[in-house]
Amino acid sequence: MSTQTSIFDGGQRLQMTESIELTVQSMQAYGPTHDHWGIAWSGGKDSTATLTMICWLLDTGKITRPKTLTVFYADTRQELAPLAISAERIMDELRDRNIAVEVVRAPLDKRFMVYILGRGVPPPNNNTLRWCTRQIKIDPMEEALRQRLDGIEGSILMITGVRQGESAIRDRRIEMSCGKDGAECGQGWYQQVLPNARGLRGRIATLAPLLHWRVCHVWEWLKHWAPEADFGDWSTRAIADAYGGDEAEELNARTGCVGCPLAQEEKALETVLRNSQWSYLAPLRGIKPLWRELREPQHRLKKAGAERLKDGSIAKNPQRMGPLTFEARLMALDRVLAIQFACNDAARVQGRPEISLIDAEEEARIRELIALQTWPQGWDGDEPTGDTVMETVYQNGAVQPLLFGKES
Ligand code: SF4
Repeated sequence: MSTQTSIFDGGQRLQMTESIELTVQSMQAYGPTHDHWGIAWSGGKDSTATLTMICWLLDTGKITRPKTLTVFYADTRQELAPLAISAERIMDELRDRNIAVEVVRAPLDKRFMVYILGRGVPPPNNNTLRWCTRQIKIDPMEEALRQRLDGIEGSILMITGVRQGESAIRDRRIEMSCGKDGAECGQGWYQQVLPNARGLRGRIATLAPLLHWRVCHVWEWLKHWAPEADFGDWSTRAIADAYGGDEAEELNARTGCVGCPLAQEEKALETVLRNSQWSYLAPLRGIKPLWRELREPQHRLKKAGAERLKDGSIAKNPQRMGPLTFEARLMALDRVLAIQFACNDAARVQGRPEISLIDAEEEARIRELIALQTWPQGWDGDEPTGDTVMETVYQNGAVQPLLFGKES
């Protein structure tokens, strides 16, 4: 809701209690205008702080209860283990309070691992259209909301964990990017894209009641306040611990998928691994380099020349690189399964929780898609691999022949 920032005009270094008070004010201003509320929760630090704060404000009567409240947990299957485990616990705590929780997941074929390793779409990067956030977070959330709205009259107030700290107060803008330190991937999209989605326009208002919170307030709430009985007895301490315990206050940790190909560094994973309880997850370090490797030409097909589009024009990039070869997909599947096996082997020895990067259903579907010789739209599989030396074809149809003739 764009008018929200005006509440916080001119604020500088707001203190914790003042931050909470401003959250109460924003909820009091916008909450009662909607009978139905939803909370878009990813299990990351900002949306968990938002979720538990709203529940506490409701429990203590500081804000008025809506007719219905539904928590939508965005389960990407790509979350860091400590966060996924905490999310499970918090879901139990929500259900104990009779709060409706809906687990929102992409359909099998659209999930990150299945889409890459089964369908053959290369891992996302910063230079190409980023398909992952929309596909594993936004579209499933849109669908869940569509179904929810089918069952109610009027609109829903969607509460997000977008948090911009002091810069929000200064800049009056919401970052969409999850590449920025501290941002929680997807939350900015929930805030700005969902209300305008097909079939949802006019029926969703969004509100980010922790928009003004500084990151130190988030840690303070998750570590010291929310776990106390007076504030709801929530299992949030483990989330803060996953990000570095007492040192977390210094870290404006970004939250997102493990091995996210778009993040510069895997700060969250490295912080988790510094905790001796989680160090058995060290093989997860192998995921990010694997995604980078898969983008290399030898693992992909490319268009051989002037590709005619439906309207008769020639594609902008006539020799663009495309999907992953079957060999590359199988190689990567083996590598991910080996990483999963190594983590879980260590987990069993140490009596620690096991992880699931690719479950049995996903593995079966990946192998099936490969066996069915599935290619993404616009590719047949008879294109040359990306490392094939060829004459260069330009968009205007001009051809630059090979200097030394075609390789045999
Ligand atoms: S965290 Fe990274 S991989 Fe996951 S959805 Fe966001 S951009 Fe994509």
